[in-house]
Amino acid sequence: MTQRPISRDAIITRMDTYIAIDIGGTHIRAGLYPAEGIEPICVERIHTQGKKGSSLERLFEVITRIWPEKDTVRCVGLAAPGYIDPHHGVIILAPNIPHWDHLPLQQLVTEKFNVPALLGNDANLAAMGEWRYGAGKGFHQLLYLTISTGIGAGVIINDNLLLGAHGLASELGHITILPDGPICGCGKKGHLEALSSGTAIARYVTAQISAGRDSLLKDEKEITSYKVALAAQANDGLSKEAVSRAGFYLGIGIANFLQTFNPAVVILGGGVSRSGPLFWDSMHQSLATHILSQEYLRDLQILPADLGDDAGLVGALALAHTCAL
Ligand SMILES: [Zn+2]
Repeated sequence: MTQRPISRDAIITRMDTYIAIDIGGTHIRAGLYPAEGIEPICVERIHTQGKKGSSLERLFEVITRIWPEKDTVRCVGLAAPGYIDPHHGVIILAPNIPHWDHLPLQQLVTEKFNVPALLGNDANLAAMGEWRYGAGKGFHQLLYLTISTGIGAGVIINDNLLLGAHGLASELGHITILPDGPICGCGKKGHLEALSSGTAIARYVTAQISAGRDSLLKDEKEITSYKVALAAQANDGLSKEAVSRAGFYLGIGIANFLQTFNPAVVILGGGVSRSGPLFWDSMHQSLATHILSQEYLRDLQILPADLGDDAGLVGALALAHTCAL
């Protein structure tokens, strides 16, 4: 019997892959991943807005760039900011991306690339990423907060991401802490985000300097929470006060969240969470003061996030994996 030579193409087996997309106001990042693990095969980045092409065309372009030539894409997971309807894959309100309100993004990606797609809120998905692959691995009840310019959140209950009736659950940055407090990014007063975010810290120091307070930062043109954190570490009184004030209000917020969700782990991500021990100590102290019962703190772990800037991308990947379930 003669054996037919096997052609080179025939021995290349098609591999299953997943695509994860993290859509931000400034950049869209896209990663191609193998069937298992969070090590990307490749990652590409594009500006969300620019002279050439709409944001949607730019999204399609970056997906096309990483689309594998030979392998099969099982699902595209999309993480986007703003109000998302994850049940229908629609962006309800995208504050930082023009013309994306009421955009059926999931359907548009599916139609363009002929592949299943899933859409979720970026902070919700970052919680999912930390739970599946980061600091929250192995926990069944998890609360995640990302504290940077704003405050985003996600909650895992009994190994499931909490979405709510319309997918709008866990907007924890916008709970009211001080009804007559400073104006929040959303326009309401005294929300947690208006007191503990990076924007809030920078704004507090700027206002205090304008009112005549002395500080190492008094000649800075633009005060950022990062500069405040550095000045606090250099023993600047006003900066220390601003950082510990943000930690204090965050402690009140977390006390409320523990009483609502009773998680086993709280994970804090975002730039402000890296402000140093003053921020964490102040948060812990305030939490212990405001919590209803010390029982909520029993065996509770409060941990820094593991995934850093990749949290959104890895969260979108975790969402894409649910396609196969
Ligand atoms: Zn708000």
